[in-house]
Amino acid sequence: MVKIARNIFILVVGFTLMFRCEPEDLIETDAVLQPYFDIFKEEAELRGFAVDYEAERIEGLLQQIPNSNVQGQCFHNTSKPKKVVIDVDYWNNANESQKEFIIFHELGHCFLDRDHLDESDSSGNCLSIMHSSPQVCRFSLTPANRKSYLDELFSE
Ligand SMILES: [Zn+2]
Repeated sequence: MVKIARNIFILVVGFTLMFRCEPEDLIETDAVLQPYFDIFKEEAELRGFAVDYEAERIEGLLQQIPNSNVQGQCFHNTSKPKKVVIDVDYWNNANESQKEFIIFHELGHCFLDRDHLDESDSSGNCLSIMHSSPQVCRFSLTPANRKSYLDELFSE
């Protein structure tokens, strides 16, 4: 009888712990990605946006994305945190500008709710960080064009 009571106790405690963890999904951004989330926040705040990833429930994760063409993804979810997922292989081979670009692009989806914009200028250069793939237009983030690309990103 004591044994049964103890088992029930364990079950009840077990369920309580489970249910306490479930509804409050914590926001946990990978420490490697966090500095780039911070840069996005700074650039956004310079342009009048208030960025609170906890309140917006946006987190960033470094994962293996099986489709090798996909460098990053933004998962929208009403009940759970929105996830920015960056492909770990892309990340490990990316330079600083490419790391900034992929975070800006995915937070463009996840934070700014922007869609893709594939237009280019007469020389074939992408008009936006929000282009859908490296094939549609020419793009590289440089100290010379960084500010205008960021202005464009936050203009919508
Ligand atoms: Zn995209």
